[in-house]
Amino acid sequence: MSSKASVEIWHTILKYAISVPIFLDVEFIQARGIDQYSYQYPYWQAERIRNTLRRVCHAWSGFLKLYDHRFIRIDDVIHKRVPLTALPSAIRIDLEWIGNCSCAEYCNSVGDIYWDEMQDVWMGALCKYDTYPWKLEIIGGCYGREHMHALGPLVPNLRVMVSQEWGVIFAFGRIISDVGNPLGPQLSMSMCAAANLGTIHMTDPDLSMKISITSGEFPSLRHLIIDVDDMQEPFEQWEFHTFLQYIGPQLRTFHYRYQIHVESLDSSLWSILPNVESIQLPFRWTLSDIPKGHPLKRVQVAAWRILDHFNEESTWDSALSLHCPLSSQRKLSYARDVAWRYLLFEHPSFSLCIWSYFEDNDAHLEDVHGDTLFQYIIFLIKAFWKQPHRTYCRTPSYH
Ligand SMILES: [Zn+2]
Repeated sequence: MSSKASVEIWHTILKYAISVPIFLDVEFIQARGIDQYSYQYPYWQAERIRNTLRRVCHAWSGFLKLYDHRFIRIDDVIHKRVPLTALPSAIRIDLEWIGNCSCAEYCNSVGDIYWDEMQDVWMGALCKYDTYPWKLEIIGGCYGREHMHALGPLVPNLRVMVSQEWGVIFAFGRIISDVGNPLGPQLSMSMCAAANLGTIHMTDPDLSMKISITSGEFPSLRHLIIDVDDMQEPFEQWEFHTFLQYIGPQLRTFHYRYQIHVESLDSSLWSILPNVESIQLPFRWTLSDIPKGHPLKRVQVAAWRILDHFNEESTWDSALSLHCPLSSQRKLSYARDVAWRYLLFEHPSFSLCIWSYFEDNDAHLEDVHGDTLFQYIIFLIKAFWKQPHRTYCRTPSYH
């Protein structure tokens, strides 16, 4: 490219160079599952590139400085690694306690110093910078319902909420869920705070599943992921049918992550979710359950839950046939919600079992990163030959 390229073109190139796919994407779920959304590596890699490019010249440095602190872990603010003043510039904030710190000042002190500091930082920033133009679009983690309420003024800009207790999200939708008395749709519409919230990943759904939500409360909601702790009692199918009956038609993604059921799917779910393109269900179902013309394209498979639930090799094949609906008549794409790296090294027999099951049925299967087993093996071979000092017993971590 000519050195006389316009400033606008250079800005476009620089923005492309520091872009962070998926992690800062507000429509990530169409391409990947929720687990990969918490994978921070692409962000820190982009930050290394940004810092390198800033050293090229003063003009680049000035331009790229505008992209400081796109993602902030509140844990870093508490530990004074990131200044409090940076919070309004973050597109994504993570409220989770990282938990692997041995510092005496906050994490290993007597009493609740860490959480007191968390309150000072989080509530302090929301109050101190309440008139600032915050850029926050994505929030991960929940710091107690009473503290999340203070986020209210920023909610109109929120596009994604990850790992949230349902009570918090209800509060933003302005539903009086605690008393089982949802506001009428008309009133809710006028009070709706979460107008742009398109993706919700909900944990700890509790009994509020027994009431319905309406499109008036979450007019932009398209992607709903419900993660239920395997220690909890399963929901009855009618409970989440009730929960979804109004919001269901606007959803494009519905992932209900729970341990495997042997219960058959109530096929009326398909009429409650007539536009869903990506689904995860814990129930036993077949492709013939889906009405003709339904737009479903992608099925997420909770492979490791099959592994946990059916712990004998002899039962894996039958479990897969019950919980991974395959058919040559209807081609769907399948994605596991863990990485090959994890399953292949932790459970090699099951990995090969699930791979051969999909291969025998001529169905496409990828992992949480979007790789087929072949692609992952090629990646491993390349990585192996690139190592200057190769070792033969290195076991990769979860991701
Ligand atoms: Zn610490």
